[in-house]
Amino acid sequence: MIHIKSAEEIELIRESALIVSKTLGMLASEIKPGVTGLYLDELAEAFIRDHGAEPGFLGMYDFPNTLNLSPNAQVVHGIPNNEPLKEGDILSVDCGSLKNGFYGDHAYTFEVGDVAPETKKLLKISKESLYVGIREFKLGNRVGDVGYAIQHYCEAQGYGIVRELVGHGLGKKLHEAPEMPNYGKRGRGKKFVEGMVVAIEPMINMGTRRIRQLKDGWTILTADGKPSAHFEHNVALVNGKPELLSTFQYIYEALGIVSDEEEEFRVKKPQL
Ligand code: MG
Ligand code: MG
Repeated sequence: MIHIKSAEEIELIRESALIVSKTLGMLASEIKPGVTGLYLDELAEAFIRDHGAEPGFLGMYDFPNTLNLSPNAQVVHGIPNNEPLKEGDILSVDCGSLKNGFYGDHAYTFEVGDVAPETKKLLKISKESLYVGIREFKLGNRVGDVGYAIQHYCEAQGYGIVRELVGHGLGKKLHEAPEMPNYGKRGRGKKFVEGMVVAIEPMINMGTRRIRQLKDGWTILTADGKPSAHFEHNVALVNGKPELLSTFQYIYEALGIVSDEEEEFRVKKPQL
């Protein structure tokens, strides 16, 4: 069953989503060669608690940490460890927060130092595909329209679209209906209605779409060992259109990046 949110509930989800956005912005300055995932995880947990929220992933389905940290060939659900990041790595950081009974859940793939051009392209196309998908989250469309758009944008570059893991509704639960696959057929699946809130999150592989799982029961990685990227935003359907509840602007501020990619999806600019 899809839980439709009131305007007040959407504002509470926005508050939780923005705590995640600020956490990712804080981490953006810390992610560099030599730094360990456990260090980043400790910083993130303290930061989220300082903002009056709970880490959304810690203990969820028995996950042991605040962050999902998935370097290089890891797709998602990597567990923070003591291995230092290396120059040229990429690191997908997925983070959740819980405040006032509502979840925020979003993700960004960071470059660690100087990254190979083909990997930079993977990140660029994967992030663009997120917005291509968000653009289809509007009144009159269905779940399949978002998936179709993401799939075709990325497959045109020869990339693999992970099938086994999908986006989702978001609210009082971290994972609500409907499932939001990053592949699909136009005009298929659940119809979008006013007040829906979803997490759209393409997981895009440079090579094969096939994945495997480590024996830790969590870490998902590409079957061919090639890199994978993951970008996620939280989006509400307001006045028939997608409205972003999360933002990458804190990351961009930390990294000195200027981008207007979010502007078409927001009524008001986030206060930096
Ligand atoms: Mg997530
Ligand atoms: Mg999610």
